Amino acid sequence: MAKLTFLGAAGTVTGSKYLVEAGGKKLLVDCGLFQGEKELRLRNWAPLPIAPATIDWAVLTHAHIDHTGYLPRLVSGGFRGPIYADPATCELARVLLPDSAHIQEEDAEHAEHKGYSKHSPVLPLYTVEEAQEALTRLREIPRSDPFRISPEFSVRGYDAGHILGSSSLELTITENGRTVTVVFSGDIGRFDQPILNNPHTPPRADYLLCESTYGDRDHPGGSVLDQLAGVVNRVAKRGGSLVIPGFAVGRIQTLLYLLRQLEIAGRIPRLPTYVDSPMAITATDLYMEHREDHNAEFARIERETGDPLDLHDVHMTRSVEESKQINRIASCVILSASGMATGGRVLHHLEQRLPDARNAVLLVGFQAAGTRGRSLADGAKTLHMFGTDVPVRAEIVEMHQLSAHAGQSELLRWLDGFEAPPKLTWLVHGEPPGLNALAGLVRQRDQWRAEIARYGQTVDLQ
Ligand SMILES: [Zn+2]
Repeated sequence: MAKLTFLGAAGTVTGSKYLVEAGGKKLLVDCGLFQGEKELRLRNWAPLPIAPATIDWAVLTHAHIDHTGYLPRLVSGGFRGPIYADPATCELARVLLPDSAHIQEEDAEHAEHKGYSKHSPVLPLYTVEEAQEALTRLREIPRSDPFRISPEFSVRGYDAGHILGSSSLELTITENGRTVTVVFSGDIGRFDQPILNNPHTPPRADYLLCESTYGDRDHPGGSVLDQLAGVVNRVAKRGGSLVIPGFAVGRIQTLLYLLRQLEIAGRIPRLPTYVDSPMAITATDLYMEHREDHNAEFARIERETGDPLDLHDVHMTRSVEESKQINRIASCVILSASGMATGGRVLHHLEQRLPDARNAVLLVGFQAAGTRGRSLADGAKTLHMFGTDVPVRAEIVEMHQLSAHAGQSELLRWLDGFEAPPKLTWLVHGEPPGLNALAGLVRQRDQWRAEIARYGQTVDLQ
């Protein structure tokens, strides 16, 4: 009988890893890193409960590190199989995994330097070289056609609308002439957003694993375009600049799209706009190249008026030298990573622009506790960076509508897409409030059964 084990994203939002066993073969669905609290991060260091060498294949829902960031450990631990993902996910992983390794190496060096750790030398969780080694195992599978992994497993992706290449996976397991279908929702995105297609629910599932990140709440309403136009116009009128710390994959491309819409409609002046993050520039290229992910409106705009992410006066600054030149521009828009101002080039722009009241900083994503982004959102009067306290006189604006995760009613809309209730739904990838709320709502549906997945739990799929 086929079995499923929850090796991550059970009771929490990171570390997505699900092991499926059938016919003596083992398939790992997602291979994410645990992030956040120390207790969770320590799990990345502990050996997997299953020897990586005994796993035959891995398949990915999307490229985010909490779904892929454990791959280098899996490979260094002995995994020798192929890692299957759609073309865009493979390409994004080639950008994100080495970056994740680079951060691990920097953290280790920092700990060594500060003497945080009892161990010396302090080793990184994995190195850039190990990340590169893991990437050699990537194999492209079709974006939306069924793909047979083995006689036991066949997988098919459905657009999840979360980031480029993101999929919900329908896994068909065949064992002793019987088949069972398990749907892994992956991270479900938003409906009616720029660029990507709406999340598409697979038609049927015997068993379902559904993410619950926002299972307990909806995102705030209100027009993103109005709010964005408001802040750009205020800044332009003051002769200042707008700094937007953004996540390199997804958020920055959405902002480029929205700013171009506002420019074309004549709702904002044509300010010079800088995309100052090598990763965001590469991601922007990938967003344009992967047409299979574009929604109809994006395709129409591209056909009729050209590149929908190309503003009138946009500059992609890859080199440090080009990045420094931006300091000389009095009035402009700067999109730069990281999204919570924990590091990256955006820090230099904040240092330069925060002390001037003509400028504004637009916070467009979730700002975790303890980050500079959160300090700004909480009204800090100074911000510590590069060893000094930088005075905060710029206008600080928060915009919460641009989340890449479905809110509660969007999760329910996605669940509505099933032709019949699955035999059982496990709620995964959520904190307890989101998991409990969504479990309650699923149980209220006619003939639906729901359970909250537990870390390390193994269940039968019959
Ligand atoms: Zn994600």
